[in-house]
Amino acid sequence: MTRAAREALIQAALDGVPQLIGRLFDGRGGYCALGVLEKLSDEQTGLSTPVNACPICGATEETYHNGYEIRNEGALLVHYNNDHLFDFLTCANKMPVSEEAADA
Ligand SMILES: [Zn+2]
Repeated sequence: MTRAAREALIQAALDGVPQLIGRLFDGRGGYCALGVLEKLSDEQTGLSTPVNACPICGATEETYHNGYEIRNEGALLVHYNNDHLFDFLTCANKMPVSEEAADA
């Protein structure tokens, strides 16, 4: 994940955005962590960066979405949001941030 994506998650927390589990948005201002980042491009978020498993619990599949494989940072973020129930700040803190992207 890029620093821009991390900052967007932190901003969502500061703005008091209601956090959803299992859906991107609800049309009433609520978003999941991935939904918060939907307005940014793949390039801007870095969420297509490959990962092999959750660095915290070792899972290779999301539980909430029933076997959806955790193969990139976007899927990892969904796993953090739905399976670990991390709030936006914790997601921002636990997601890997690329130093290269941070310097861009
Ligand atoms: Zn996990």
